[in-house]
Amino acid sequence: KKGHSDDQEVSGDAAVVEEPSENHTEDDDKITIGFSMDTLAEERWLRDRELFKEAVEALGAEVKILASKGDDALQILQAETLINEGIDILVIVPHNAESTAMIVKKAHAAGIKVLSYDRLVRNSEIDLYVSYDNEMVGELQAKAITKLVPKGKYVYIGGAETDYNAHLLKKGVFNILQPLIDKGDITIVYDQWTKDWFPEYAFSSMQEALKANDNNVDAVISANDATAGKVIQALAEQGLAGNIPVAGQDADLAAAQRIVIGTQTMTVYKPLKELAVQAAELAVKLAKGEEIGVERIINNGKAEVPSMLLTPIAVDQGNIDATIIADEFHTREEVYGKE
Ligand code: BGC
Repeated sequence: KKGHSDDQEVSGDAAVVEEPSENHTEDDDKITIGFSMDTLAEERWLRDRELFKEAVEALGAEVKILASKGDDALQILQAETLINEGIDILVIVPHNAESTAMIVKKAHAAGIKVLSYDRLVRNSEIDLYVSYDNEMVGELQAKAITKLVPKGKYVYIGGAETDYNAHLLKKGVFNILQPLIDKGDITIVYDQWTKDWFPEYAFSSMQEALKANDNNVDAVISANDATAGKVIQALAEQGLAGNIPVAGQDADLAAAQRIVIGTQTMTVYKPLKELAVQAAELAVKLAKGEEIGVERIINNGKAEVPSMLLTPIAVDQGNIDATIIADEFHTREEVYGKE
């Protein structure tokens, strides 16, 4: 294995480091995957971390995981650490879609391929991209909300501008809204990114949106459930929670609970096991130099990237039992409380 040394420990926050349990000098054929994550702040990423580890281990490979808490410099440093430890392939969830291109360069210089997980690394020769169809996520949100509010004043609370997903989500939302805006049925009264996806910023954005419009807002589309939660808190302060439709994404437990009580209209559910399993299988294949058989190609600004985009699912009160609960993403008791 390239430059591998067992006495070289991965540095960083012990809480986010997962060393393979087995001593891999005994089994040098074993594929080692480096998983460079951004944040573990949203509920979903903890699940991604567990599911990816499980999927990798089920394939007889192992994974070293580091998370950088939204710090670009730290993510680059951690990726370098993984590369120097002699991983066979790097899987990355970029915090910053642009600056992580440097990691791809460094990995390639060491002969290591890179798979973009959930979020696309832009302007780099990334080897593979596996995600959900993020543009479709935005479309599902806007379709659900325009069905309820075909005319009126809309607020859009976007994701982090540094995350390319946030751009795809917004594009999807406006694919649906623009024709209605052009007709004069819908007006966008507020539209703001949320730096680093911090829910607190979404909270102040929503307060600002309500204030600027004397509370005359008819619908809100928020880029994920963590921000939607804060949007709903700002609505609640004005006694409006439950009266104004709100869309989110991720199927966080709190969002599922808000959907059944009626303060959040819908979420977009991405069955993360699918993503983790596909990414693990493809990563192992890439590491072994095997044919990956991925047909879709996405241009990331620099390269034509082989891509796999999974299908997201719109969830509201009507189908929550048949989706999130039936899949055991959350249990019935967690969502509805004890009956
Ligand atoms: C992911 C979302 C997540 C958000 C914040 C996006 O790139 O697709 O699922 O909520 O990042 O971490």
